Amino acid sequence: MAEDGRIVVVGAGPVGLCLALRLARGGVPVTVVEKEPALPPDLRASTFHPPTLEMLDTLGLAEPLIALGEITPSWQIRIHETGEKAEFDLGTLKGDTRYPYRLQCEQAQLARLALEALRNEPNAQVRLSTEVIGIGQDGTAARVELATGERLAARYVVGCDGARSIVRKSLDLAFEGATYPETIVLVVTTTDFREHFPDWSGVNYVWTRDGNFATLRLPGRWRVSHYPADVSDMDAVLAPSNIERFLQSIDSRPAPYAVDRVAPYRIHQRVAATYRVGRVLLAGDAAHLNSPTGGMGMNSGVHDAFNLADKLVRIWRGADDRLLDAYVAERRPVAIEHVVQQADKNRSRMKERDPERRRAILADLQATARDPARCRAFLLKSSMIEGLRRAASA
Ligand SMILES: Cc1cc2nc3c(=O)[nH]c(=O)nc-3n(C[C@H](O)[C@H](O)[C@H](O)COP(=O)(O)OP(=O)(O)OC[C@H]3O[C@@H](n4cnc5c(N)ncnc54)[C@H](O)[C@@H]3O)c2cc1C
Repeated sequence: MAEDGRIVVVGAGPVGLCLALRLARGGVPVTVVEKEPALPPDLRASTFHPPTLEMLDTLGLAEPLIALGEITPSWQIRIHETGEKAEFDLGTLKGDTRYPYRLQCEQAQLARLALEALRNEPNAQVRLSTEVIGIGQDGTAARVELATGERLAARYVVGCDGARSIVRKSLDLAFEGATYPETIVLVVTTTDFREHFPDWSGVNYVWTRDGNFATLRLPGRWRVSHYPADVSDMDAVLAPSNIERFLQSIDSRPAPYAVDRVAPYRIHQRVAATYRVGRVLLAGDAAHLNSPTGGMGMNSGVHDAFNLADKLVRIWRGADDRLLDAYVAERRPVAIEHVVQQADKNRSRMKERDPERRRAILADLQATARDPARCRAFLLKSSMIEGLRRAASA
């Protein structure tokens, strides 16, 4: 074992960095190893839900993140052609959270803030350009094998190394589930849709005649989720002329859209068979993947990180390490029942193409939005508060 019983966190994504910061603040020596030379500027998560902001506040990260993002007090499901909508007011949750809104801010900003904070922690090390190629363990310690041939000894290793996790693969764990057929293309534009759609919220899930899209407002720009019908030729899908045609189909304008970035993603729903094998644990995308509709993947990974960090700190201070089984028992069912299933439901709702069924879904959503008790129950789920309450009572 490492002389100081250090914990090694593999991956400097939002989950690994939050976990490491929480450990360091709890007095636990920690090393983060990240294969990239700098934090990846990924265009991925942009929604932070209320409980995640509460957790980040304990690390002093909520305020700076809020300053960099856009507060979104309500979100909508809409029919594009008619403008009919159901709008959910997150103020309904003001008795349940100090942050009754969705914050729209890129995950790279959280990673950057967490890394800066971690660099000020004397018992934390961050090693960039350090790729892990294997994990081993025996009764007394875990071992992290690096691409350089170096080996790190650790009391525990946590794989926060994303969807293709080498830590999960080293444990030979099943990662059961499915890959969805669609490819999602994220398009960032600085052209302001609100000029023509003043009643849009900062987050809108929208049905069109023959498909659907979503728009998320970030400071000074919109992020649009595009689900192209035919993805057999991705070069064609991503060609600027086709991205322009897609944006013009949302709102026809005389001038071309100002497009900042475009990025395609395949989408999966999978959960690892367990999150713990001896001294090796998994958290975040390494442990579970879900459809991004509803914005829950990173949030649930951060919730894993806090749950696990608190248990590792207690073990560091002398508690029995069976506590780590409680981490699995508390967080894995939440991933299955509250994240993967809820995200799948969100996705299926927006995939509905039948106009009559869409109208029935919308009528039901409108009735939910109007009824304070139903609206609160619905938002407790979509805002990930219910899942955390479930984990706390597990
Ligand atoms: C289009 C899209 C939109 C999304 N929107 C949202 C949203 O709005 N809200 C939300 O909550 N979630 C969203 N998500 C999901 C979210 O992006 C992920 O859940 C989140 O990135 C998971 O964080 P992580 O730290 O677990 O993994 P990652 O962010 O993938 O980080 C893993 C890190 O590990 C490093 N790594 C990998 N392998 C190794 C190795 N062998 N050695 C060392 N380092 C390694 C990687 O370089 C990376 O830095 C979205 C995802 C997509 C695709």
